[in-house]
Amino acid sequence: MADLADLTISEAGVGLRAGDFTSVDLLEAVTKRASMTEAQLHAYLTLDHEGAPTQALSADEMFSNGEDRGPLQGIPVALKDNMCTLGVETTASSRILAGWIPPYDATVVERLKASGAVITGKTNLDEFAMGSSTENSAFGTTRNPWNTDKVPGGSSGGSAAVAAVGSAFGSFGSDTGGSVRQPAAFTGVVGMKPTYGLVSRYGLIAFASSLDQIGPFSRSVSDSVAMLEIISGFDPRDATSINARVPEFGRSLAKGVSGMRIGIVSDFMNPDIIDSEIIAATRAMADRLQDSGAEVVEVALPSTEFSLSAYYLIAPAECSSNLARFDGVRYGHRSDFEGTTEEMMAHSRAEGFGPEVIRRILLGTYALSAGYYDAFYGQAQRVRTLVRREFATAYEHVDALISPTTPSTAFGVGEKSSDPIAMYYSDLCTIPSNLAGDPAISVPIGLDDQNLPIGFQIMAPALGEEVMYQVAAEVERLADFTQRPYLATSIEVKP
Ligand code: GLN
Repeated sequence: MADLADLTISEAGVGLRAGDFTSVDLLEAVTKRASMTEAQLHAYLTLDHEGAPTQALSADEMFSNGEDRGPLQGIPVALKDNMCTLGVETTASSRILAGWIPPYDATVVERLKASGAVITGKTNLDEFAMGSSTENSAFGTTRNPWNTDKVPGGSSGGSAAVAAVGSAFGSFGSDTGGSVRQPAAFTGVVGMKPTYGLVSRYGLIAFASSLDQIGPFSRSVSDSVAMLEIISGFDPRDATSINARVPEFGRSLAKGVSGMRIGIVSDFMNPDIIDSEIIAATRAMADRLQDSGAEVVEVALPSTEFSLSAYYLIAPAECSSNLARFDGVRYGHRSDFEGTTEEMMAHSRAEGFGPEVIRRILLGTYALSAGYYDAFYGQAQRVRTLVRREFATAYEHVDALISPTTPSTAFGVGEKSSDPIAMYYSDLCTIPSNLAGDPAISVPIGLDDQNLPIGFQIMAPALGEEVMYQVAAEVERLADFTQRPYLATSIEVKP
């Protein structure tokens, strides 16, 4: 391996425990990688030059004292900038929160710190996680390390890019309608959305609370398991947290898929909506799973056709309520406008929010307004129930579902930014799992003819992470996807 920054988390863990290098060395390697790529990528909003070295030193001290807190001890990881970090600026990529320093850590951050992880910094996102390209950030666009003319996906585009390029060993994002899986697909890394309620949302800046889940980006399936195990579990500070024993997600990684029944979602293999190269790659992987001993059957999920419409009513409705707290009084930006309190609030919001956020607040407020509530919001909730039931029925016949992660590979910067509907279509294959509340993962399986990664999605029933990872591990073995992005490899040849 040419550079420490290219190791997986499990490889880095072996080296740390063998004394081949220290956590301080690992932090130096990813910091150097960031310094060589950030001018082109702009994936980080903040690098924590104070906290990270202190955490690395204390992880090294734990190792030398024989204290071992598990797979993330001493490992530098990055966080999407919508997770609250005590003493470190947290903006959700919005002008309205610029300069805001949280007085507390999100539960996920607390758990990471307790596990001995090193937090490198905060990554760029679409403002308040609304978008599919990271172009909606108030602080500039993140670029795709495979081709800097392309978007990295979104909304967790910064987290995806740092995991892909090696300016962290892994990272965390949030997935409301696909914001971990879609950017993972676009950047050639593994990205996972847990069962709703498995990971605490406490300290995650809320977008759509009934859909939001935090999930890991990694360069291998087993790293994804290790990261999820650290962040998941009951938290009394999140009212929707599942109060149950956390299953061992990685128990079946080596089992293969022999004897499993796997459903390929026929609605997501439609050439009218999905690129033909992606359909071909997905079909080829399904055939290989069949060769590995699984029975692959076609499964129709007809109500997924309405998922996108339902999501774009439910998510804006919830966001219009969640974002009401940004009023210029309690947090962040306050307008200089002199007038009544209401006028000050209106001006603060108009100055602080970007156009997509304003569009969603308006859509959501309209969908919830008297006289329209049942026609829009109520109808969307009924569709959500249908989607949920359809998935539940499917899982009576199959162990897991597979599909493409995205309708296309990474698109060009600026290509869809003036057409919100075209942008919304990026999430066609990912949104249904959020509506159902089920776990889903994207695993890279190859490159298209433009040398851009193709993602393969595996979905499982609620709390079916073990089965989901079992199939994902087999897909990873079969795909043997070892290519690295142009930006990372260009660094290896030019020391
Ligand atoms: N792209 C979707 C949206 O804009 C999903 C975002 C997300 O998962 N946070 O709402």
